[in-house]
Amino acid sequence: MAMFEHISTMGHEQVIYFSDPSCNLKAIVAIHDTTLGPALGGTRMWPYASEQEALMDVLRLSRGMTYKAAVSGLNLGGGKAVIIGNPKEDKTEALFRSYGRLIESLNGRYITAEDVNVTVDDIENIFVETNNVVGVAKVHGGSGNPAPYTALGVFRGMEAALTKVFGSRNVSGKVVAIQGVGAVGFELSKILDERGAKIFYTDINEDNIQRMKECVPKAEYVKPEEIFDVPCDVHTPCALGASINDETINRLKAKIICGAANNQLAENRHGTILKEKNVLYVPDYLINAGGLMNVSIEFEGWSDTKSRRMIDNIYNTTLNIFSISETENVPVNQATDLLAEKRIESIKKIKTSYLGNVAHRFPGRKRRHYIDV
Ligand code: NAD
Repeated sequence: MAMFEHISTMGHEQVIYFSDPSCNLKAIVAIHDTTLGPALGGTRMWPYASEQEALMDVLRLSRGMTYKAAVSGLNLGGGKAVIIGNPKEDKTEALFRSYGRLIESLNGRYITAEDVNVTVDDIENIFVETNNVVGVAKVHGGSGNPAPYTALGVFRGMEAALTKVFGSRNVSGKVVAIQGVGAVGFELSKILDERGAKIFYTDINEDNIQRMKECVPKAEYVKPEEIFDVPCDVHTPCALGASINDETINRLKAKIICGAANNQLAENRHGTILKEKNVLYVPDYLINAGGLMNVSIEFEGWSDTKSRRMIDNIYNTTLNIFSISETENVPVNQATDLLAEKRIESIKKIKTSYLGNVAHRFPGRKRRHYIDV
């Protein structure tokens, strides 16, 4: 498909290609929608096999950020960026500073942050060249590691689901099966353990399994392929996307699916299947927005209390989405999209109401006439 066709089909406002041969920088920034505010989303560094693959990734991810910010009630639009390169070999100070200058040239339309293979140290180099970056280290006035905040959001979403299914948000005595105890899964395990949940978990990384054994000793390890068969109240994907697919969906014993992983449903139709099976799916991009909410307040002066207050509200938004899903008789994933789209549309309308006034302030301007001359 041609580039302009891609962009217009997915509703993007702008896609910027940037190259600096002096430091081998090849980057694509995609700004999806800025109705609600400047586009915010992380930068991913990946050795993409082709430019087309990089473009598709950045288009898909930036669109996802528009929905995530909208449903989270943030005054932010959706954007994302990719740097084409091998993170093990191609990272240099010059590359990230050159990239920072690119971001600066966009004048605040796009704000970047960490993503896969872009760390807080890389952010520090970007921050030398532009202020339009968040996820900056705490020592430099930023918000630091987002994982505990993402985990808190997932926990609030889980409480909403428990309220819906069991009539109480209390996790004590509930059985939770976690796939992936990396940055977020580990933080979530600690919260659940402190509140008396029974945890089963799996991982493929020996260090992360060891950390669980030391810090959450009551949790029980199961092999990676067994996590879908664990009889539990909540199945919690915190590893990769598309883990709820044709192969796993019939094995799940849980009444609730609620985790941090992005794009847990392999396809939208899996949301419909879960609804038919009476399994409550908790919208992934809302409940994993704690990290985004946390960085979003860096510009106004980050504080732990402010961040937690915002994230606690995920409980109410999740309940609201369950109720839309019921009233409209649509799967939860679709109800989440509806809520996000409704917010964007309503804000778009209030913006146009002032455009008329602006035009009236310049009644004498005749730009077309000027060009004709
Ligand atoms: P992470 O890389 O720290 O943790 C992922 C863990 O999953 C690792 O320990 C890894 O070994 C494990 N894993 C990978 N494949 C597995 C498999 N097949 N079976 C079992 N375990 C497996 O990542 P993270 O930051 O904890 O993020 C987890 C998920 O949440 C990702 O999908 C990420 O996109 C999403 N997310 C994270 C954040 C955040 O703040 N970090 C925010 C939003 C969404």
